[in-house]
Amino acid sequence: MSDALHRERLRAQLAGHLERLEREGVWGLSVAAPAAGPIGVPREESLGPVEAEALGCVACRLHETRTKVVFGVGSPEARLMFIGEGPGRDEDLQGEPFVGRAGKLLTRIIEAMGFAREEVYIANAVKCRPPKNRDPAADEIGACRHFLMRQVAIIKPEIVVLLGNSAVRAVLDREQPMSRMRGRFLDWNGVRVMCTYHPAYLLRNPSAKKMVWEDMKIVRDALAAAAPE
Ligand code: SF4
Repeated sequence: MSDALHRERLRAQLAGHLERLEREGVWGLSVAAPAAGPIGVPREESLGPVEAEALGCVACRLHETRTKVVFGVGSPEARLMFIGEGPGRDEDLQGEPFVGRAGKLLTRIIEAMGFAREEVYIANAVKCRPPKNRDPAADEIGACRHFLMRQVAIIKPEIVVLLGNSAVRAVLDREQPMSRMRGRFLDWNGVRVMCTYHPAYLLRNPSAKKMVWEDMKIVRDALAAAAPE
């Protein structure tokens, strides 16, 4: 057997072995497997350890005034993920995102799209409430960003909906009027992202509901088109 043929056989055997290990959940040995998930964060298996880490986090000043860390809620296998900016008063008390008036509106939007709230995943850019519901500061978003990135890497949603400008800043690092970002998918390292107005904005500006519904119909139709048979 020639050296070239021998090397080729060894390469094929090694590739088969590594693929088998990969299917069994072993990532560290595979030269073909990425060292990081699809959005460039370390590959992790489940949300539990990430949540446990967040519950004890004191990495930014928001930990000083929080009642509860608001990690996220929903299906870890969700095809659709919503990301808002940060917990409000009700969320801080209950430890769950989007449970106040804006949350009830978001739930109605999700249901109008044909999903149950439990089928999607809902999280925020920062996991602790900014005092007096101010916008989260850039350094707070930065300190908390790795939790959000790890959630997305584990859940692997097909589509992410960013609710409001803080969520857009946290994920896409973009500063543009929402009117110029909404209405079409943006690409975020292979994940389709739809930016739209935050439900709290809709409570103050009901006329914007029409635009949000237009955005959500685009998302709904894209998920329907990609749905497994
Ligand atoms: Fe930690 Fe995020 Fe809470 Fe800041 S907002 S303390 S980074 S969990």
